[in-house]
Amino acid sequence: MRGNTLYIVVPCYNEEEVLPETARRLGDKLRSLMRAGKISPRSRVLFVNDGSKDRTWEVIAKLHMENSLLCGVDLSRNRGHQNALLAGLMTAGDKADMVVSMDADLQDDVDAVDAMVDKYLAGIDIVYGVRSSRKTDTFFKRTTAEAFYRLMNLLGAETVFNHADYRLMSRRALEGLAQFKEVNLFLRGIVPMVGYSSDTVEYERGERFAGESKYPLKKMVSFALEGITSLSVKPLRMITGLGFLVFFASLIMIIYNVVRWATGNTVTGWASIACSVWLIGGLILLSLGVIGEYLGKLYLESKGRPRFLIRQVLDEGDGE
Ligand code: UDP
Ligand code: MG
Repeated sequence: MRGNTLYIVVPCYNEEEVLPETARRLGDKLRSLMRAGKISPRSRVLFVNDGSKDRTWEVIAKLHMENSLLCGVDLSRNRGHQNALLAGLMTAGDKADMVVSMDADLQDDVDAVDAMVDKYLAGIDIVYGVRSSRKTDTFFKRTTAEAFYRLMNLLGAETVFNHADYRLMSRRALEGLAQFKEVNLFLRGIVPMVGYSSDTVEYERGERFAGESKYPLKKMVSFALEGITSLSVKPLRMITGLGFLVFFASLIMIIYNVVRWATGNTVTGWASIACSVWLIGGLILLSLGVIGEYLGKLYLESKGRPRFLIRQVLDEGDGE
């Protein structure tokens, strides 16, 4: 029989506006699950402060004082959503038998936790929260996000369709995740690699409860590139294909020009030369860029810098 201590991990970056409500909802959720006997009384909500510039950490500390079910981890600085999430998962992993991760803005339906816990209790190791629709997202966010999933899968990065970082992982799955040491972290792609038994739970994604998205378009695009280059080397292979293609095109061009020369109507002018020089120059630059992208990753990985540093943990049993 597996243990049933649940930790809910919530990364927070400048979330002082939403935290009190999020804390109330998650606190209620824990209590109701405890009452139902599904989770142990040692279960907690763990807020990870990702180097916020506002009073997020003060709010977390106050919530912890008022309610011991609510705990916190303070990171040394802003490390981004994925690293903050990992910090939370690794901190919770020592104490919990199962960990649910979700965003601070209550966009993920808190009530889906019940179904996730049920599946865990039935023996599943990873339960993915999957959006049943994207009605509440803006048209722009919806189309770009869906294009992103399609592109990722096309380029060989396996991800669960319409699944963000709302999921439950068992302790065993977390221990597996801990062995993935990559610095370029794309959890959505790595978690499926951990394996074990998995299942999905559908939920409706709501609107941000307060504050604004911390994922502007620029971050979204870099997140997408990060995902693709972390999970797949297909872009490199595509360069090779491109090289072959251009090589064949130039062969045909050469044959054509030689035939014209042999038959006495030599092609004149510089336009054709300029076109091909620019085309090939562009392709070479593009290819160098793609290779550089991977080289850059290798560079970062080879340094093996810590993915997060913890300033303080607010949880009983940590000398608080
Ligand atoms: N977040 C974080 N560090 C960052 C940016 C975001 O921990 O540098 C957290 C944020 O507080 C939220 C979650 O990541 O809990 C998702 O961010 P957001 O809701 O702004 O993204 P969206 O839902 O718009 O994609
Ligand atoms: Mg959000």
